[in-house]
Amino acid sequence: MTLHEITSLLKNPSVSELALVSKAYIFAEQAHREHIRYSGEPYFNHLCETAKLIAELGADASTVAAGFLHDTIEDVNVKPETIRKEFGSEVLMLVEGVTKLGRLRYRGVDRYSESMRRLFIASSKDLRVLIIKLCDRLHNMRTLSYVPKHKQLRIAKETLDIYAPIAHRLGIRKINRELEELSFPYAYPAEYERVNAELSQKRTELIKKLSKFHKSVLKDLVKQGIQVLFTEERLKGLYSLYYKLKQRDGDFEKIYDVLAIRIIVKTVEDCYRVLGVIHASWRPLPGRIKDYVAFPKPNGYRSLHTTVFTGDGGIVEIQIRTEEMHRESEYGVALHADYKEEERPAKRGRKRRLYSSLISWKGKRDKGDGKTVLNIEDTGNGIPSWVRALGALDRTIGEQEFWEHLREDFFKDRIFIFTPKGDVVDLPTDSSPIDFAYSIHSDIGNHLMGAKINGKLLPIHTTLQNGDIVEILTKKGGKPTQKWLEFARTSIAKKHIRNTLQKLKP
Ligand code: MN
Repeated sequence: MTLHEITSLLKNPSVSELALVSKAYIFAEQAHREHIRYSGEPYFNHLCETAKLIAELGADASTVAAGFLHDTIEDVNVKPETIRKEFGSEVLMLVEGVTKLGRLRYRGVDRYSESMRRLFIASSKDLRVLIIKLCDRLHNMRTLSYVPKHKQLRIAKETLDIYAPIAHRLGIRKINRELEELSFPYAYPAEYERVNAELSQKRTELIKKLSKFHKSVLKDLVKQGIQVLFTEERLKGLYSLYYKLKQRDGDFEKIYDVLAIRIIVKTVEDCYRVLGVIHASWRPLPGRIKDYVAFPKPNGYRSLHTTVFTGDGGIVEIQIRTEEMHRESEYGVALHADYKEEERPAKRGRKRRLYSSLISWKGKRDKGDGKTVLNIEDTGNGIPSWVRALGALDRTIGEQEFWEHLREDFFKDRIFIFTPKGDVVDLPTDSSPIDFAYSIHSDIGNHLMGAKINGKLLPIHTTLQNGDIVEILTKKGGKPTQKWLEFARTSIAKKHIRNTLQKLKP
């Protein structure tokens, strides 16, 4: 790979930024000269590929330079002082952030969580550390076939357990998807074979149906004078198919987004017009029309979704969005990742505002035009509050607990729940009013007596749905019971309940 292939990806680089990246390129090539990958190629290739992935995500010159240098301290004994002298303290901080994690050598859960904890401490100071780590892992996954067999399973599982969910929560779908698809055959070989065999049988016919439908949609849109920028056809990836099958009792017929087309248009208004045109010609499936434009997902995702019967027995999901939404759905937080803890207060442009839900979980309902808009409550930089929360997590919390916290609270899919005043709280899926109450305040949780969900009084163990408006009813003498532990999802709620029960013991 030539240096130019990478520098050409930088956005309006200055002369000094170009010089920094070039210097890192040459330095890494020198430092790793004797160093070989499992595949037999020069180690330097890994550094170029990692740096290129970082540049593709739109990161700045320092992050790309750190991508070239990320293994110099760990693998070829370059002194941190040398990096500081040659590249400055910003690049050193990034390289050290990645290095400190060590190579994740799996030595039981404890060891593992400790590395993760360090990852989040580093990332909560500068999110770019996490971006570098994800790109490093992506290239390692692309070349996993060369790694000794006994290591493949461990690396693939770790990728599915940790790195893919991180990418997802950062809204970097592009990396999330590829990590999942690459890990799947190694992590779950039997399941992979099964899903692959099932889809192979149907593949040709499915693709034919999809193309036919795609053409008629385009014809309709042209007829209505809507300018379409580009479209894409998509057959669901094997891992995401496997994941959905697990949730749908293995019934292929219950999965409605095996086939999808994506329509990219110029404006938000056009998105809704496209939806109208499609619904005028094809019958939508009830309950599958989703407006993530007015109501973005907690990871920042925006798009209109609908699923329609194609008329020839097929079902196709349609995703409609603008180019900007498309870019954000692919690159997520990486588009804004040049923020760090100390300096550079966030620009308060419109773009950042639109992107709010990812950056701050606390939103507000805009009461002006009646549309639901999530306003940014800027945390001062682009570091999502959950990364910050993980980094700041109490050091006394046990490793096992930290691990559970990560899996249960942070990597689960999220839902938005509203207070009657329109404040937003985001919670893991399957949360109950108990979780909601404790997430507002421990006192509210402890005195919880009942909950009104969308105006209706319902049991406090009811499973909440995305978009529910929940009003918590409290009573002065109210207190938690043992039973609540079964209905609480979040570790924060469980912790408070346990503590309070402990105190109430006679
Ligand atoms: Mn590496």
